[in-house]
Amino acid sequence: MRDATRVIKAGIPAPAQGEPFLPGPTFASKFFLEGEPSSSRYTYGRNGNPTWTRFEQALGDLEGGSALVYASGMAAVNAVWADVLLRAPGPRVLVMPSDGYNLARRVAREFYAPLGVEVRMAPTSDPKFADLFEGATLVWLESPSNPMLDVCDLAQLTVEAHRRGALVAVDNTTATVLAQRPLELGADFSVASDSKALAGHSDLILGHVAVRDPERAGRLRRGRDEQGAIAGPMEVWLAHRSLATMDVRLERASANALAIARFLQGRPEVRQVRYPGLPSDPSYPIASRQMHRFGPIVSFELADRATADRFLHACRLVFAATSFGGVHTTAERRGRWAGESLPDGFIRLSAGCESADDLVDDIAAALATATEDHR
Ligand SMILES: *Cc1c(COP(=O)(O)O)cnc(C)c1O
Repeated sequence: MRDATRVIKAGIPAPAQGEPFLPGPTFASKFFLEGEPSSSRYTYGRNGNPTWTRFEQALGDLEGGSALVYASGMAAVNAVWADVLLRAPGPRVLVMPSDGYNLARRVAREFYAPLGVEVRMAPTSDPKFADLFEGATLVWLESPSNPMLDVCDLAQLTVEAHRRGALVAVDNTTATVLAQRPLELGADFSVASDSKALAGHSDLILGHVAVRDPERAGRLRRGRDEQGAIAGPMEVWLAHRSLATMDVRLERASANALAIARFLQGRPEVRQVRYPGLPSDPSYPIASRQMHRFGPIVSFELADRATADRFLHACRLVFAATSFGGVHTTAERRGRWAGESLPDGFIRLSAGCESADDLVDDIAAALATATEDHR
C-alpha cells in the first residue's frame, strides 16, 4: 500500500455492521475488572486505553515497529533518555546535534549532565560528527535539524554508531514518518512530537516513540506507567482522526514550502534561504535520497531584527506563531527564544495548506512593506 492509503487505513478496526470507522475516544480511569487482572486487556487508565491501542497500532504500522504514545514530544524524548541513560549504572555518554531542538539540548545539559551523563554536541553538518561516537551510549540524531534544516545521512551514521556499540535514536519530528522511517534506516528508536505535522491542526500536544525490539517496547511501556507521562484519550483520538489527511496535508505543505522558498530565493532583500527541497540547497543531495517529502519548513534571513519584526507584522495570511507543521502557515523570528543563537533577522516559516499563490502574494506584499521606507 502507498502512504496515502496507509494513513487512512492505519489503526482502523475491521469493519463491523453499525460501528463507526474510527471509534470515538474512550474516557475511563478504570475498567470493569473481576478476578485476575491478567484476564483483561484494560485495567486502569494509566496503563492502557483502547483509544491509545488503535493510535499506537496506526503509528506502529507506519513506523514499522511497536509504537507508544506520550503526553508530549518532550515526554517521548525523556522516556527514551531515562530508559537508555539512567537505568543502568556506569559511564553514560549522550551524543547529540548542537543545532537540534533547543529544549532537548537544554534538558541534556541541565538535567542529564548533572546526573553524570556526559553530553557531547556537534553541528549536524559537521563531517566529524561521527568522531564523537567513541564510547557513546546513545547517539541522538535529528534530520532535518530544527531550525537550520541541515540534514545528515541517518543510515550511515547509524552504522557508525552501532559499530562503536552505541544505540541510535532519531528525533523524526521535522521530517515525520511519511518523509523518512528511521527504524528502516537502522535506528533503534524513532521519536517524534506529534504536536506538529502529524496531528497538523495546531490543537493538541502529543508525542510517540517507536522501536522494533519487543523487549524494549515492553520496558518503555512499563516506564511510561511508572513515570505517568500519559496522553489524554481526547488528544490521542484527535491525532488519529487527523492522521487520515496527513499525506494530503504534507503534499500540499511541501509544494507550498518549495514555492515560497523559490520566491524568497529570487529576492535581493532575503538572504540564506534554506529548504532541503531546493536543488541548490546544501541539504539537497542527502535529502533527495533520504526523504520522501521535503516538508513544510523554510528558513531565511532578513537584514535585521526590525525588518524581520516589520515583515511578520505585515503578513496577513501568515500567522505569527511558534512551532510548525499545521494547516495554517506560520512564521516567527526564531532568535526571540532564549537558547537560540541565531542571526537577529532569522525567520523560520512553516508552510500550511492554503493556496501557494495567495501565500506568495502575501509574503511579497509583507516584504515590500517591511523594506520599502527603510532602505
Ligand atoms: C516540538 C519538538 C519537540 C518537542 O515536542 P512537544 O510535543 O512540543 O513536547 C521535540 N523535538 C523537535 C524536533 C520538536 O520540533
